[in-house]
Amino acid sequence: MKALLGSGGIRTEERRILYQNLMTENFDDCKRVIFVPFASNDYDGYTTRMQEFTEDLGYELIGLHEFEDPLSAIEAMDGIYVGGGNTWLLVKELHEQSLIEPIREAVLERDVPYAGISAGANVACPSMQTTNDMAITMVPSFDTFGIVPFQINPHYHPGGIWYREDEEGAIVQHFGETRERRINEFHQMNDTPVIGLYEGSFLRCTDNNYELVGNKAAVIRKGEETITYDPGIILRNDLTTA
Ligand code: ASP
Repeated sequence: MKALLGSGGIRTEERRILYQNLMTENFDDCKRVIFVPFASNDYDGYTTRMQEFTEDLGYELIGLHEFEDPLSAIEAMDGIYVGGGNTWLLVKELHEQSLIEPIREAVLERDVPYAGISAGANVACPSMQTTNDMAITMVPSFDTFGIVPFQINPHYHPGGIWYREDEEGAIVQHFGETRERRINEFHQMNDTPVIGLYEGSFLRCTDNNYELVGNKAAVIRKGEETITYDPGIILRNDLTTA
């Protein structure tokens, strides 16, 4: 298995270069990569933007929505890239087009390289339940690809939120619930460990081996203290260190 799972937040030049290098490496044997734009409402516009962003990386990116038969497109392509946006929209479409099992099988049984950023990383997990997104539509099921055996919470940040009304304003405390608290709520009903990926961080995944690259991540286990790791660490399937 080969996958690149990221949080997003690639808004600096340094982070963009890292993303492009990692994408090149992830799809290094690929000529044609399928782009899954279902987390957006504008499939054509989103695919065009991503084609511009990934041009010169050595492979051709083709929107899945352009194929009449998405199943044979997945069979024919060398790689799969699932873009971010709203996870609920994405999961609804994946289920309605019966794509969960074929993509899982392509990645886990045929070693087709997978990349997923944000919502695309959420769906690489066993379920979509640790998304930050609003439930803007109904999904047939929370189940997703299960390419990795743990849950990801993208765009994670530690602690509470402080904000400014405007650029000149004083910094004030928000007092809203933290990410950790929301993930603790997930753990009131579920046991699967969660990794909170800070902005700009990626997991470079191979079988039972997950290297953290770019920025920090927090591992949150049911009933245990959160552990924060720096980039460079290698984690196993159970999110313990190798
Ligand atoms: N909306 C996020 C994204 O950019 C997903 C999330 O925060 O769960 O895809």
